[in-house]
Amino acid sequence: MPQGPTPPSLLFSPSHWLWLLFRLSLARPHPGGAILTGSRLGFSSGLIGRARPRATAVAKSEKGNINRGVLKVFGCLLPVGLLAFPLEAISAAFLFPTANRALVNPGGESSFFVGTAGKSWTSGQFGCVRSGGHQMHEGIDIRCQRRDARGEPNDPVFASADGIVAYINTRPGLSNYGIYVILRHRIEGLDIHTLYAHLREPRSGLRTGLSVKAGDPIGVMGLTSNTRQRISQDRAHVHFEINLLLNDRFVEWHKKNHPGQRNDHGLWNGHNLLGIDPAAILKAQAAQGRSFSLLEHLRNQTELCRIVVRDTQFSWVNRFTPLIRRNPIADREGFAGFEIALNFNGVPFQLIPRAASELKGKTGIELLRVNSAEAQSRGCRRLVQKTKKGWELTQKGISLIESLIY
Ligand SMILES: [Zn+2]
Repeated sequence: MPQGPTPPSLLFSPSHWLWLLFRLSLARPHPGGAILTGSRLGFSSGLIGRARPRATAVAKSEKGNINRGVLKVFGCLLPVGLLAFPLEAISAAFLFPTANRALVNPGGESSFFVGTAGKSWTSGQFGCVRSGGHQMHEGIDIRCQRRDARGEPNDPVFASADGIVAYINTRPGLSNYGIYVILRHRIEGLDIHTLYAHLREPRSGLRTGLSVKAGDPIGVMGLTSNTRQRISQDRAHVHFEINLLLNDRFVEWHKKNHPGQRNDHGLWNGHNLLGIDPAAILKAQAAQGRSFSLLEHLRNQTELCRIVVRDTQFSWVNRFTPLIRRNPIADREGFAGFEIALNFNGVPFQLIPRAASELKGKTGIELLRVNSAEAQSRGCRRLVQKTKKGWELTQKGISLIESLIY
């Protein structure tokens, strides 16, 4: 078993109920909409994208009401929320997905990460660590500790947090991740997914929709992948990701924007999963203990750039509501768009509602500013580029935002 106590059920923590109250308060002024109705509170609903009204269908007064609801609820629940915070922090803990916990030992990184063929362990980390820093690795490669008589890895792989099974790919030929499992979690009001790749096999009986507890075995480590260069025995690892799902209407977006292109994994297409660094989270938890908060961790991401979108209803708003900041002007006037801060991997980690009077540009997506230091040191996702006219979003960047707000 991995480390630590099994966290208490997320469903019954005090802050879950605060979250429930918060979501219900948002639902009231907006009874007809698919968004903000609280229908996605349960894990059982809405795994697959569904229709929702476009921003234009929402009357301005309704937008205003939503904001006043946020204001009211933030105002009265904030003190209680602060009291409840330590309890939520306990339930937010991620467990190591295998028995390998060398990451938290001084100098233990080389026993924890596996590098790419012929490269050091650093290329097994998350981020711009591949192809001389020019290519992104969206997860971490955790080294095998157990082998069978034939030298094949057989470490048990465990659920990192309480959740449900969202997706199992049992056809290794369809992905460079080989056989993999995705779990869905609700942590501090955030819709989080963990992914476990290159498995030999998923645990027998594991199926989509099944509830799992943190620490439950979900499969066995393997070497599966569809890449031409196979994973060698000495590089045996589990590729582990902590993801935020970009849009629950991704399948429709993909069909419209890439007609004729295959989308073997539907909602679980790699382009719809935005990774955050699992090692940073596991280390922060080890250092901070019960005071660790995933929400704070997300809020403290380094900004790559800041954009504005003239859209108010997209699934991120619904699934990552705690990342929305207050704006008194939008509270008063109603909001017509969002200002969004993105980290280097394109994760929208801060959203500020903006009133129509605050939106200067006319275009649907506008780049406000770029953190050039971050763009230079961690630019492998190529979301922004510097031209003679200054910084602009690349086609990749625009595509990411379009699929976010679709
Ligand atoms: Zn990997």
